[in-house]
Amino acid sequence: MGFVVAVDGPAGSGKGTITKRIAEEMKLTSIDTGAMYRSVTLAMLEKNIKVEELDKIKNLLDQIKIEFKKSGNEQKIYLNDKDVSIEIRSKEVNENVSQVSAIDIVRSKMVELQRIIAQNIDVIMEGRDIGTNVFPNADVKIYLDATPEERARRRFKQNEENGINIPFEEILENVKQRDFIDSTRKNAPLKKAEDAIYIDSSNMTIEEVVNEIKQIIIQKKQ
Ligand code: C5P
Repeated sequence: MGFVVAVDGPAGSGKGTITKRIAEEMKLTSIDTGAMYRSVTLAMLEKNIKVEELDKIKNLLDQIKIEFKKSGNEQKIYLNDKDVSIEIRSKEVNENVSQVSAIDIVRSKMVELQRIIAQNIDVIMEGRDIGTNVFPNADVKIYLDATPEERARRRFKQNEENGINIPFEEILENVKQRDFIDSTRKNAPLKKAEDAIYIDSSNMTIEEVVNEIKQIIIQKKQ
């Protein structure tokens, strides 16, 4: 196992942006585990598989291929050899991903893949359960938070940049709903690991959060 930095927190807390920046600056590989759950959700939507249809879901998971590939400075996610990096951010995926992520067999498959990915490389992995469940012995654990309004504002801006058009109110509602489902599910709910460092980024710039986490990593490596 390489060096592992676990970054957990709710939707829109800045995990994605910050993780990518730190990965570049500190030579770590960034892994967006939310993108993996989103890819499973997309695959189920495409095949019209419902969350209750566990046999079909198992079949799908047995055949699914999820890969991260670098394209210039960007990281793309491939579902069965197709680049789905934009599609997984759609409204339909947003509205279904938390229900899909609460399914036990989906979680165990994703956690297995996440542990394999980190076997021989140094990673900064972001999600909901990285510090509590995927890597309880991670070298550094961060819990990144912000108010729901600030998080929805960030998602709105991010969507605009990606050409995705979803009204702010809808995003805020979706963020709150996902927070609720993610933090109340039985299997590996969203929560701060006891030994994670809590950072409220509501009034911080990206730069400030990046620097704070970099300092924590540097200290740990010494
Ligand atoms: O991080 P992002 O908002 O893209 O994650 C999408 C969804 O994937 C979350 O709302 C959550 O339901 C699920 N997820 C999870 N465990 C993770 C990462 C994401 O359940 N480690």
